[in-house]
Amino acid sequence: MREVPSHFGPAHVDAAKYREMYSESVENPEAFWGREGKRLDWITPYTKVKDTDFTFGNVSIKWFHDGVINASVNCVDRHLAKRGDQTAIIFEPDDPKDPAQHITYRELSDKVNRMANVLLSQGVMRGDRVVIYLPMIPEAAYAMLACARIGAIHSIVFAGFSPDALANRINDCGAKLVITADTAPRGGRRTPLKSNADAALLHCSDKVRCLVIKHTGDQITWISGRDVDVKAMMEEVSPECPPRPMNAEDPLFILYTSGSTGKPKGVVHSTGGYLVYAAMTQEYVFDYHDGDVYWCSADVGWVTGHSYIVYGPLANGATTLMFEGTPTYPDAGRFWEVCEKHKVNQFYTAPTAIRALMGQGPQYVEKYDLSSLKVLGTVGEPINPEAWAWYDKYVGRGKCPIVDTWWQTETGGHMITPLPGATPTKPGSATRPFFGVKPVILDPTTAVKQDETAAEGVLCIADSWPGQMRTVWGDHERFQETYFSQYKGYYFTGDGCRRDSDGYYWITGRVDDVINVSGHRMGTAEVESALVAHQAVAEAAVVGFPHELKGQGIYAYVTLMNDVEPSDDLRKDLERWVRTEIGPIAKPDVIQWAPGLPKTRSGKIMRRILRKIAENDTGALGDISTLADPSVVDDLIANRANKG
Ligand code: ATP
Ligand code: MG
Repeated sequence: MREVPSHFGPAHVDAAKYREMYSESVENPEAFWGREGKRLDWITPYTKVKDTDFTFGNVSIKWFHDGVINASVNCVDRHLAKRGDQTAIIFEPDDPKDPAQHITYRELSDKVNRMANVLLSQGVMRGDRVVIYLPMIPEAAYAMLACARIGAIHSIVFAGFSPDALANRINDCGAKLVITADTAPRGGRRTPLKSNADAALLHCSDKVRCLVIKHTGDQITWISGRDVDVKAMMEEVSPECPPRPMNAEDPLFILYTSGSTGKPKGVVHSTGGYLVYAAMTQEYVFDYHDGDVYWCSADVGWVTGHSYIVYGPLANGATTLMFEGTPTYPDAGRFWEVCEKHKVNQFYTAPTAIRALMGQGPQYVEKYDLSSLKVLGTVGEPINPEAWAWYDKYVGRGKCPIVDTWWQTETGGHMITPLPGATPTKPGSATRPFFGVKPVILDPTTAVKQDETAAEGVLCIADSWPGQMRTVWGDHERFQETYFSQYKGYYFTGDGCRRDSDGYYWITGRVDDVINVSGHRMGTAEVESALVAHQAVAEAAVVGFPHELKGQGIYAYVTLMNDVEPSDDLRKDLERWVRTEIGPIAKPDVIQWAPGLPKTRSGKIMRRILRKIAENDTGALGDISTLADPSVVDDLIANRANKG
């Protein structure tokens, strides 16, 4: 257990305050959230706070539902009087030789208003959908807030997605227009976004317009009548666009899940409840204070970017950093160079990035002055203790609390997480619930709630919180089926979980990833964690496959460190290693050397594909449109280790 460092603080929330606030939040949610909702500016204040029903067949979630509000006013206008000249967004471009930009709240206001007027000029109306296919440039934030200003619903599609994936999303949400850029520099290369959008639009209604931000000035094809030069038009329109009063329950955005477990779902988030929750978690979980420089290295194409680059920080009047590049360009020190340069106080990234940088050696981080850092965060998957220790030692220099935040696209914001000034941490545990969150652990087969403190099973949430998704776009049935049908009366997260005797939560991976070997249930994450603890291993992914004797066998895909060659001796060594780390039952039946693993664009391993390969059922891989590099799959199939 790592105690809160004695030098830390004064924090917004200490241990005693956490206990007090948490109790009130779950015992008297009306009073608690009624107060917290006031952190936003309302056009018409709400009188209702919570109106939620988790009953299958009747699921309905409403918060602050008679309140009237505008999200862009909360993220921009209301800060102008006090912090018009404060930097709202620091933009750090892909190429470190290009200058960073500091965009003040006043400039942000000007851009958002102008972009909103551009949208209006294109006939975008309240409730219309706008797909945003942009890289990590300030215009992405302007576009989001411009939509919010006029009541349009945005749906961001990650700029690394293919034309097919883009077309599917444009069609699924029935977007009226798509906002893109000419090309997107990333890691020294350029993605041809506009030509991808052109290709996608061939599969969409010819009414869909294409708004283009000329970011690099690279040459692009232009379809007159359909394409619009956004920057040129922003110069022409008025810098004032009255915000539209929105109901708290009007959708703010749709975001498709990463698709690691199936066809992506169009997750719908609300305006009022979502924004309250994003703002509150950003402040408390990172212990953000006025004047801090905060950096979340995620992409706006996934929910972390929505809640923790744009909406949460800007609602709080924070300075938020947007980074266009990658952690390894021009070298593996880039993150730390940016932290030093902008004196970053809170830094938030994913375990997959940490592991990748760890594999390159500590020399890239040691040479930078990271003394400004106060809090480190991770999100996306369980962080293995080795990566935690490396992050702590080399990045945090042993003095920064690490917040391991468990949450989902569906939850809108952090759900189980330490608070830096309140919660002692254990490497690999997301620790305790955030305010208002009631986690429960159920037996996966009997659905019986586990009341003992120490327990293991599936993770469900017993009651609603304001940031919860409201529906699946156009398919409320699928929403109920996916989240409320398995365990009646609960929101089902899809994740497995263990609660230790201190009441700390450990996410063990997706329920689908729990395997049963000769009657022993184990999370594949545990075996992976053991494998990556071996010095030769950079990454590992473990799945089950049908096994005649054991029911399920263990199939491990192993990526070795750069300088290590695969060999039979190493294979035996890894088997021995897992036996001693976990026990004989966890010894992999099959180890396949994998130069690359199939990952989603948000860095998650798509285990369902690995399962198919392990089962030798490669004819039906399902939707792989969200993969970062689909060629990895062919390579894995060609080199299957389990030829039987
Ligand atoms: P899909 O639902 O389409 O398969 P996805 O679940 O990968 O996509 P996200 O909503 O981005 O899409 O990911 C949420 C999931 O990520 C969680 O359910 C959990 O499995 C995992 N996760 C996120 N943060 C953590 C964390 N701190 N510790 C453990 N697991 C985490
Ligand atoms: Mg999911």
